[in-house]
Amino acid sequence: MKVRTRFAPSPTGYLHIGGLRTALYGYLFAKKQGGDFVLRIEDTDTARYVDGSVQIIYDTMRDSGVMYDEGPDVGGNYGPYVQSERKNLYKEYAEKLVELGGAYYCFCTPDRLNGLKDENGNFKYDKHCLKLSKEEIEERKKTEPYVIRQNVPLEGTGSYHDLVYGDISVDYKDIEDGILLKSDGMPTYNFANVIDDHLMGITHVIRGTEYLSSTPKYNLMYDAFGWERPVYIHLPPIMKDERHKLSKRNGDASYADFVEKGYVKEAIVNYIALLGWSPKENIEKMSLAELTEHFSLEGISKSPSIFDEVKMRWLSGEYIKEMSNEEFVSRAEEFFKKSKVYGKYDLLKIAELLKTRVEIFSEIPEKINFLEEFTDFDNALYFHKKMKTDEQVAKEVLPKVKEVLESLDSWNHDGIHDTLMDLVNKLGVKTGQVFWCARVAITGKESTPGGVIELAEILGKEETLRRLDLSISRL
Ligand code: GLU
Repeated sequence: MKVRTRFAPSPTGYLHIGGLRTALYGYLFAKKQGGDFVLRIEDTDTARYVDGSVQIIYDTMRDSGVMYDEGPDVGGNYGPYVQSERKNLYKEYAEKLVELGGAYYCFCTPDRLNGLKDENGNFKYDKHCLKLSKEEIEERKKTEPYVIRQNVPLEGTGSYHDLVYGDISVDYKDIEDGILLKSDGMPTYNFANVIDDHLMGITHVIRGTEYLSSTPKYNLMYDAFGWERPVYIHLPPIMKDERHKLSKRNGDASYADFVEKGYVKEAIVNYIALLGWSPKENIEKMSLAELTEHFSLEGISKSPSIFDEVKMRWLSGEYIKEMSNEEFVSRAEEFFKKSKVYGKYDLLKIAELLKTRVEIFSEIPEKINFLEEFTDFDNALYFHKKMKTDEQVAKEVLPKVKEVLESLDSWNHDGIHDTLMDLVNKLGVKTGQVFWCARVAITGKESTPGGVIELAEILGKEETLRRLDLSISRL
């Protein structure tokens, strides 16, 4: 049987890290087994619907590479893939479930229901409407609003095997006769997930642990319809710290937030995969294809994992290090645009300097703005104990540096390097005395990414000489 998994987000805003992880595991498991991965939009809770969020879900999944084979915007044989477009189906199945004894019509008014609350506000429906006769139901349906409730046995235990959490049992007396179909004809999640997972041929249901204990009531429905239950895989929560779940309230950022902050996309996906799963092999950096290759359900942990942004940042840096200069520039372009040097210097050469020095692209502007911020600086910067250099040394070597560079025609790395080394030899000074002084003279900074050769090359001959002139005049 072909494996079919699904991601079933509710369009309630941004696609947060936890949601994307659920999607990713569904994707990885399906792809690993040569199966299908389905996107279904669960929009029946109209009160929580946020405009634009369906588009965010599509965009995030495409952009991150966690792409579905079937879904609202790509089609498939099991559509429609948006729950609000399946309304009639739910009604049909809810009525069928009533006939099968797994559900019943309920006409209770809000007042009556309120009266059932105990002193702590807890509520358990008393199956009042289960006793209504068929005739009475038909009559009242004509004029009164009604819901359809699940008929949960009063006794017994619902058990199933979860592939991560093992055997789960819940006493039916602890489950209430929840609403399956609301008075407006819309299903609740508790009903729609069962109908859709079955009709869409979902073989493995992968979702958060918050559904672990409600699954027995879904199983009651599968059993009542005579449908095969899917395999369940509930995922451990993601925590912000030891005590708090990662949630919107606790500052859970979305995929889009991290991309905006300049994290490498592959690193975000890679890191998310490790939140609750680890491969057998001792590896951490994995592309989506490698994740697919290594993914196995045995690697999913029961314990919550803590979201560690520092670690994700490190991973992002690892991806950056491996980029070609061209790729770095094209992927980081919008961050280069925010810097003062955009359009002024050769970004490919700057990329070479930055690749090992930034972990996320948003660090770029602050790291390179110095190229354009050449202002008056303190001559004490020429002092460097180990290099045996100071303002006096600068005074001696800098005019010579200027002289040799002035007559250099091939302004490139090797040309600048050889010229300065020749000068070092000719003067019989230490390399650092020339290189340190010259770098300070053209940047005015104590530390910079890259040394004098790389920086002079990026600045170009004219600007390098102009800065040397200025710095010499200030000595
Ligand atoms: N719409 C549900 C949610 O967003 C989906 C849960 C599930 O995967 O079954 O939590």
